This record gives sequence, structure tokens and C-alpha cells, in this order.
Amino acid sequence: MPEQSVIVLEPANDFLSFVQSHTGENVTSCYQCGKCTAGCPTAYAMDITPRQVMRGIQLGLKDEILDSSAIWLCVCCQTCSLRCPREIDIAKVIESLRLFSQAEGKPPAQREIAVFHSAFLQQVRLFGRVYEFGLGITYNLLSRHFFNNIKRLPALLARGKLKLLPQRTKGLANVRRIATRVKELERKSS
Ligand code: SF4
Ligand code: SF4
Repeated sequence: MPEQSVIVLEPANDFLSFVQSHTGENVTSCYQCGKCTAGCPTAYAMDITPRQVMRGIQLGLKDEILDSSAIWLCVCCQTCSLRCPREIDIAKVIESLRLFSQAEGKPPAQREIAVFHSAFLQQVRLFGRVYEFGLGITYNLLSRHFFNNIKRLPALLARGKLKLLPQRTKGLANVRRIATRVKELERKSS
């Protein structure tokens, strides 16, 4: 029987090393079983699957990965991380990829999702919680989908699902302190 060769992937490329050192996750150990993709609720809509994202990182395909819609369509549900037999926190890796993409100044492959992220965080910074009515208005303006979901508004207001005025959380000062600290850390690491 011929001796079988074993291919061991080393973090020999910059992108793989960068992702591994910044996330603390051993992407090299992914052996492409596909369990992450099989359990992912949004994989059907992604241009590349979570398994392919991991393989792309191993191969150092930085632009292909950071330009993908997959990193924006991940909803951080953690299913992939729980299913991975190599105990890789894939959700954490993908979240980091979004940050790397932003740090590189790349236009997000899913612009609306990036706009939603930023509008959501703005609400949290202002009120310490999400003010849904304000979030909807901010998102519609920034995304330029001015009349998005507008037909649903009367029913949502009538059923008390949306409040017209924002409510501030008691821990607002703490939330703002956290937001300021995050900004400082982002500035230092950029
Ligand atoms: S579940 Fe883990 S080992 Fe399997 S393909 Fe996904 S990341 Fe790789
Ligand atoms: S964390 Fe993201 S990639 Fe993982 S299963 Fe959930 S949506 Fe899919």
C-alpha cells in the first residue's frame, strides 16, 4: 500500500495569520466538513458559504472574502460555532471579517445591512436601547428606501408595537461609557 501523504496547512499567508491572531481562532484546523454551512440559516442567500469562507481564509483569498456578501448576511446566531467539530468560533471569525472589511474601507457587499448596523448602534448610543420608530426612520433615510415598510406603520402603531417617542434606559450613562471606550479602542487599533 503506498504511503499516504498528509497535507498540513500552516498559517503561511498574511491574511490567515492576521485573522488567526486577531480572533484567537485556529482557522487552519478547519477540515471542510461543512457542518457549519448545513446549519446556517442564511447560507442559502450567501454568495459563498461559511465553509467556503473558512477555506478562503486558509488560502489567503483576502479580497474574495472581504468583498463577499456572506460576511454581511451572517446574523451571528452561533449555530455554526456550536456545530463545528474543530471548535472554531466561526461566528466570531465572520464578525471580525466585517470589521476588517470596514477598516480596509471596502464598500460592503450588502450596503443595506451595513446601514442597518450603523443606524442600530446610533440608537443604542442615543437612548441606551433600540428605539424602533427612530431606527426605521433613520434606516429608510440612510438606505434611501424612503417608503420601506411604510404601509405597515398604521397597524404597528395601532397595536402598540411601536412607540412614537423614545424611552431612555436607566443605564444610559454606562452604555455611553462603553460606546466611548469602544471608539477609543477602535482608534488605537486602526
Ligand atoms: S464545521 Fe468547522 S471544521 Fe467543519 S467546515 Fe465548518 S469550520 Fe470547518
Ligand atoms: S453565526 Fe452566521 S455563519 Fe454561523 S450559522 Fe449563524 S448566520 Fe450562519
